[in-house]
Amino acid sequence: MATQPIDDFCAKIKPSTKSAVGSASKETTAARKRIFEAAYPEAGKTDALRGIANAIKGQDLAANVRRAAESLERNGVKVLFAADAMEAKEQIAEIFKAEGVKNAVKVKSMTTEEIGLNSFLQSLGTDIVETDLGELIIQIEGEGPSHIVKPAMHRKRDDIAASFERHHVADSYDDNPQHITLNARKYLRKKFLAADAVITGANYVLAKEGAIALITNEGNARFSMAGAKIHIAIAGFEKVIPSAKELAVFLNLLARSATGQHSTVYTDFVSGPGSAKNSPQKMYFIFLDNGRSDILGSEFAEILKCMRCGACMNRCPVFRLISGHAYRATYPGPLGIVLSPLLAGERFCEYADLPKACTLCGACAEVCPAKIPLPDLVLKMRDLAKTKHCKVPNDINFAPFSFLATRPKLWRALVPLNRLANFLPLGAVKFGPLGRWLKTRTLPSFRGGLFRKWFKNG
Ligand code: SF4
Repeated sequence: MATQPIDDFCAKIKPSTKSAVGSASKETTAARKRIFEAAYPEAGKTDALRGIANAIKGQDLAANVRRAAESLERNGVKVLFAADAMEAKEQIAEIFKAEGVKNAVKVKSMTTEEIGLNSFLQSLGTDIVETDLGELIIQIEGEGPSHIVKPAMHRKRDDIAASFERHHVADSYDDNPQHITLNARKYLRKKFLAADAVITGANYVLAKEGAIALITNEGNARFSMAGAKIHIAIAGFEKVIPSAKELAVFLNLLARSATGQHSTVYTDFVSGPGSAKNSPQKMYFIFLDNGRSDILGSEFAEILKCMRCGACMNRCPVFRLISGHAYRATYPGPLGIVLSPLLAGERFCEYADLPKACTLCGACAEVCPAKIPLPDLVLKMRDLAKTKHCKVPNDINFAPFSFLATRPKLWRALVPLNRLANFLPLGAVKFGPLGRWLKTRTLPSFRGGLFRKWFKNG
């Protein structure tokens, strides 16, 4: 199947998107660095912690999932397993039907983005509203997240204020950041109170305790629980860790990596339905597979150790330029390059161009708190795309370059002539793979000369 080249999306990126994503990702990366240096000034301590996180996630996942399911059931949670996105959505729709749920609120969850839950429930007539500010901003415009932690990273505040006015979240245009937040709060208050059910993800599932940890900065998870009578949590099974003891390792890494905070403002633990009147009386937990079993048994298993912090995206020079939507999938950036084609299953080739959106600079692996060898996985993904004979429409044929680069004598003879390339009318090439490739790239002029000579002369 033909793929949709990432270049087509890049050509349409607005300058305001580039500047918003570029500055936000750079600031977060700098904050991440500062906070780790303050927390662990001793050389190698952060790295050691990352190694421990990797090792914990590498423990027997199947056994931990079994244990988590038993513990959750023991705590009164109805546990379900969904093989794929459709099964998970149908399970949720059935619960809603059985419980008469008409209004629901949602707490930010990339797993629900992965399965396309909102549009599915809306098509069945459910009013489902995102309660995280960033998610609300993109939901009212019908957009998907451009970043896994900061879903509205690509939006500027004047544009958000206009959108709030247009969609009646605010009475009038007001781009004061504090007022934007207060308008969202006022709008959401009614939704919280009207909600029959709350849907959340789970940052971690504690196998021994049978509890989930929800990590937020806005307190919306806790607030949602106060009104709704039904709580449905859904997460990929890789979110299971052995117990609360191991959670400490992840809590020390997650917020610092994600937002440059020592800790998020709220860390909520939910271990079953509540006994108090103002808490959900029923709780369901759905373990989502959706391709994860296959990944677990493959050479890409390390990617399941991801803790969804977004640090690799913030650090990635390509993501900073093209923003998350260019990756056309729920998970963008270095994480998405590896995960999106794998989760796509039979539609693997639709994402076969993604591994090319990587310079292999290795910056993502340096910051990944789970110590995932992302560049290695990107290279493996390139190989897999080749093995599957995926067709990438604007793939430039590098065979001529490869021919020259592997023949040193010929290369040396031809390099001094490279200045002649400046006279080629490349700007006039508008069609075909080369035209599409050049649409988003400006080639610098060749200066001529030999690198070896420059290097020798210092
Ligand atoms: S791959 Fe690593 S850096 Fe990227 S989101 Fe996952 S845990 Fe964070």
